Amino acid sequence: MSAPTPPSSPRVRNARGSLVVAIDGPAASGKSSTAQWVAQRLGFRHVDSGALYRAATAVAIARAGEEFDEPTVLAGLDEISLRPAQQSFTPTWRRGEMEELIRAPEVTRHVSRVAQMDGVRQWVNAHVRMAAEGCDVVVDGRDIGTVVFPDADLKVFLIADPWERARRRLTQRHGRGPTDAEIADETERLVQRDARDATQTVQAKDAILIDTTYLTQAEQVERIVSLAGVFRGIGPVNGSEPRS
Ligand code: C5P
Repeated sequence: MSAPTPPSSPRVRNARGSLVVAIDGPAASGKSSTAQWVAQRLGFRHVDSGALYRAATAVAIARAGEEFDEPTVLAGLDEISLRPAQQSFTPTWRRGEMEELIRAPEVTRHVSRVAQMDGVRQWVNAHVRMAAEGCDVVVDGRDIGTVVFPDADLKVFLIADPWERARRRLTQRHGRGPTDAEIADETERLVQRDARDATQTVQAKDAILIDTTYLTQAEQVERIVSLAGVFRGIGPVNGSEPRS
């Protein structure tokens, strides 16, 4: 006689009523693209908290150039909102398009300085928490499992060798394999940004560490989706590919 099939475990809801998967890790560890794909698999919405820090930085640069000061950054926050789209929440600027602007090199150069400002951190955290009200989310960042959602339903901390992170970042940016010299330069920039972000980039005690150096993105996604099933009975809604 075959063993009885265990009943499929129901999604376990926490006191908040919505489920949160927190994915933290250093720069270019593949958090955002992995989080986006995991959200799609689970039928959750994706929130990229780094995009909000970038949006605050981009608006400050638009208002005052790269020499902006803290009051300029704080004054610009009113111009940004976090809007729900079909599968994500995206920062939207009252004065124009943000998607490309927030990835500009000058934004990457200054974002860690902006991320040290208490007023900005509180603003980002409030927006991210609001997004999770009444909506299941996958949130990626640096301090999601420690500060923003210490009660997250699943916490993952992604790491990867800096050289490999730099190689992936350049391949994604240029659509070709980078040279060793290019990877060396990018590794240097990533390591410097890691150092500037070190205070807030903290692995929660109850986070699961995944080293993605030798994993493909599909494997990273699979691991997190299965962890969601094991820990909370959160199953995938379909076997879909990441959206472009
Ligand atoms: O994730 P991404 O690299 O786009 O984040 C941009 C910057 O935003 C980081 O370098 C860091 O300074 C800041 N950040 C943060 N806390 C988060 C997410 C991002 O300080 N939760």
